[in-house]
Amino acid sequence: MSTSLATSEVNELARGLNRLARNLWWTWDQGSQEIFAELSPRGWQNLYHNAVAVLHEVSEAELRARLQDPALAERVRKALQEFDAYLNQKDTWAAQHAPSLVEHPVAYFSAEFGFHETLPIAAGGLGILAGDHTKSASDLGLNFVGISLFYREGYFQQEINQDNWQVDYYTQLNPKNLPMEPVLDAKGEPLVLEVGINMAQVLFKAWRVNVGRSAVYLLDANLRENEQLYRDLTLRVYGGDSTTRIMQEILLGVGGVRLLRTLGLRPAVFHMNEGHAAFLTLELIREKLAEGKKFEDAVAATKQECLFTTHTPVEAGHDRFKPDLVHYALHRLHHRLKVSWNDLMALGRINPANESEPFCMTVLALKVSRAANAVSELHGQVSREMWQCLFPGTPVEKVPIGHITNGIHLAGWMKGPTRRFWKKKNGPHWEQSINTREFWEAVADPARVSDEEIWAFRYQLKREMVEFARRRLLLQGHRLNRGDYIAFDSLLNPDALTIGFARRFATYKRAPLIFERFDDIVQLVQDKTRPVQFVFAGKAHPRDDDGKRFIQKIIHLSKFSELKGHLVFIENYDMHVARQMVSGCDVWLNNPRRPLEASGTSGMKAGPNGCLNLSILDGWWREGYDGTNGFAIGDDSHPNNIGEQDRRDSANLFRVLTEEVVPCYFERDADGIPRRWIQMIRRAMVTLVPQYNTWRMVQEYAQKYYLKK
Ligand SMILES: *Cc1c(COP(=O)(O)O)cnc(C)c1O
Repeated sequence: MSTSLATSEVNELARGLNRLARNLWWTWDQGSQEIFAELSPRGWQNLYHNAVAVLHEVSEAELRARLQDPALAERVRKALQEFDAYLNQKDTWAAQHAPSLVEHPVAYFSAEFGFHETLPIAAGGLGILAGDHTKSASDLGLNFVGISLFYREGYFQQEINQDNWQVDYYTQLNPKNLPMEPVLDAKGEPLVLEVGINMAQVLFKAWRVNVGRSAVYLLDANLRENEQLYRDLTLRVYGGDSTTRIMQEILLGVGGVRLLRTLGLRPAVFHMNEGHAAFLTLELIREKLAEGKKFEDAVAATKQECLFTTHTPVEAGHDRFKPDLVHYALHRLHHRLKVSWNDLMALGRINPANESEPFCMTVLALKVSRAANAVSELHGQVSREMWQCLFPGTPVEKVPIGHITNGIHLAGWMKGPTRRFWKKKNGPHWEQSINTREFWEAVADPARVSDEEIWAFRYQLKREMVEFARRRLLLQGHRLNRGDYIAFDSLLNPDALTIGFARRFATYKRAPLIFERFDDIVQLVQDKTRPVQFVFAGKAHPRDDDGKRFIQKIIHLSKFSELKGHLVFIENYDMHVARQMVSGCDVWLNNPRRPLEASGTSGMKAGPNGCLNLSILDGWWREGYDGTNGFAIGDDSHPNNIGEQDRRDSANLFRVLTEEVVPCYFERDADGIPRRWIQMIRRAMVTLVPQYNTWRMVQEYAQKYYLKK
C-alpha cells in the first residue's frame, strides 16, 4: 500500500507553509517554529529564525519531497489547522466584551514596533511594547490595525571594536525575505499615496505585516519619484536630526491616516503610542474642515476620536520643534488646514501666546485626545505634575492623565524549553490559559510541579544561556582576533548565581552602578562556594557618547579586571538575546534613577521562566513587588539630589545582594535544592505573571479607553 501523498495535498501543504511563514503568529507558536527549524536547521540558525528566508532556501522540489514524509506532513497539517482555527475563532474576548471593537478597528500608531528579531524596526522597550500590544489585540479578537514606517535599514546593529567602543552599522532589510507584502491598488499595482512635507508632495507606498489577526502597515517613502532626502525618511529608526524627525512624523501621522482611509477603514479610535504620531490629529482635523466644519468644531470632534499614551518622564524625551522648522515642514499641510499659523501652533504650545515656544508633540497629543494615560501608577503621578501646566486651575491629582501599567505578550517571551515545560504540565491547550491566575496558581502548587522539576528546568535554561553567551563571545573574540582574551569554554559557570542586565544604555538606567563597589563585587565573584557572575547587553543610542562610555567601562572590566570570566557583555542586544537572557539568568537586575523608568518591561519577561527580579521600586516593580516574589533595592522613595540617589541606591543594591539574594540562592538542603529560592519563584509566577501581561493590559485599554463611554 502506498502512503505517498496526493500531489494536490502536497501543493496545499506547501502553500499553507508559505502562508504561515508570512504571518508572525508562528513567532509564538512552538509547533510552527519547529517545522521551519527542521526544514533547514543550519538555515534556521544562520538566517536568524527567519521563516520566509528558510522557505526561499528550501527549493520547491525539496519541500515537496520532504512533505512526502508522513510524520512531517502530519505536523504541518496540524500547525495549519491550529493557525486557521486561531484566525477564524469567533468566540473571542472582544466578541463577548467589546463587540463594537470587532466592527470598527482600533488604529494604533507607533514610530517603532518590535515583533521579532528578523524585523529589527524597534529601538527599545517602546517598540517591543507596541509589538506585544498588537499580538495580544489579535489574541483577544480586537479589530486592530497598526501604523508605522518601513525603515529599510532598521535600527542599528552593534559591534564592539578594539577600544571597547560601540560601532554602529546598518544592514539593508530585504522585503522579499521578510514576512510582509506590498499593499496593492485595484489594478494589482503597488498602492502609491502622497503626503505634503515641506514644499514637496512626497509619495509613499505601504507594506502589510500580518500579526495573527492584526494587520500592521509600514509606510515606505523609498520611491524613485521622490528626492533622495524624502526617500531616506524611511531609512533608519530615529535616524537623522530634528528636520528628519519632523518629516518622519508627518509621514507617520498624516500618511498613516491617508492610508487607512484609502483602505476604507473608519477606526473607532486612533491610539498614539508616544507623541511621535501626533500629527495624525492634524489630518483628522483637515478631514473635518473639508466637510465644512469650523476649526474649533473640527478640533473638538477629532479629540473625541483620539487616545494618547505617554512613555517619557524625562523633559528632554518629548519631541519639541522650533517654530521655524514647523513652518517649513508643515507648509503644505497648513495650506490645506486653512487656519492661521497661530491657531495651528497653539495646538503644540503650553502658552499659545508665546511665539518663541517650540511646538511640542506631547502637547499636541494631550490637547487633541479624549483621554491620555501613563504606563504605571508612579509614572501617572509624574506625568500629571509634568503636564499640570496645560490644565491651569486644575489640582495636580485631577489632571486628566490616568495610567495603565505595561505588560508583555507571554507566549512570545517563552523559549522552546519553557513552552515545552509548561505544556508538559498542562496539556495541549495550555496556551489559552497562560494569562490567567488559575494557570499559575496550579503550576505553582508543589503537588503539580515539584521543586526538583523547577530546579532542573532552571538549570536547563541557564545551561542554554551560558552556551549561547560562549558562542557569541567566541565570534566577538574571533573578529577582534584578541590573544589576550580568555578560553571560551571556561567562560561563565552554570553553578554561579547569574545576574542579568540588558536594556538600552540610556544613562538614567545606570548600567555600571553595581560596579561602583568594585572590590566588594570582586570578592563576590571569586567566592568559591557561593560564586556570582554577570551577563550584560544593550545598545547606546548612536549619538549618546555617555551611554557608549558605560558600555566601554563594562567591557573593559570584563576583559582586564579580576571580573574576567565572571562578567560578559553580549553584543547586539535584540529580542533573541533578550529571550536567552531573561530565561537563563537567575536574577534580573534593574537599577534606574527613580522615577525615570516609566514602567520597564524586561523584568516581566523573567517571571514565566523562573528568573527573579532585583530592582529599584520604580515603574511596574513598585506595583508588583510584595516582599515575597523577588527583591527590592531601597524603598518607595527617592532623594531629589542625583548624587545622593546614586550613592544610596548603590549601597542598598549591594546590601540586598549580599544579605538577601546570595544567601537565599545558596541555601541548599541535603538534596542540593534551594527550597526558599524556589518558593520565591512560585510566588513570582502567581503574583506577577497573570498581572503583567498584555492580555490584561489590552483589556484595560479596551474597557477604559477604546470603548466610547
Ligand atoms: C523588553 C525589551 C526592552 C525593554 O527593556 P526595559 O528593561 O524595560 O528597558 C528593550 N529591548 C529589548 C530588545 C527588549 O526585549
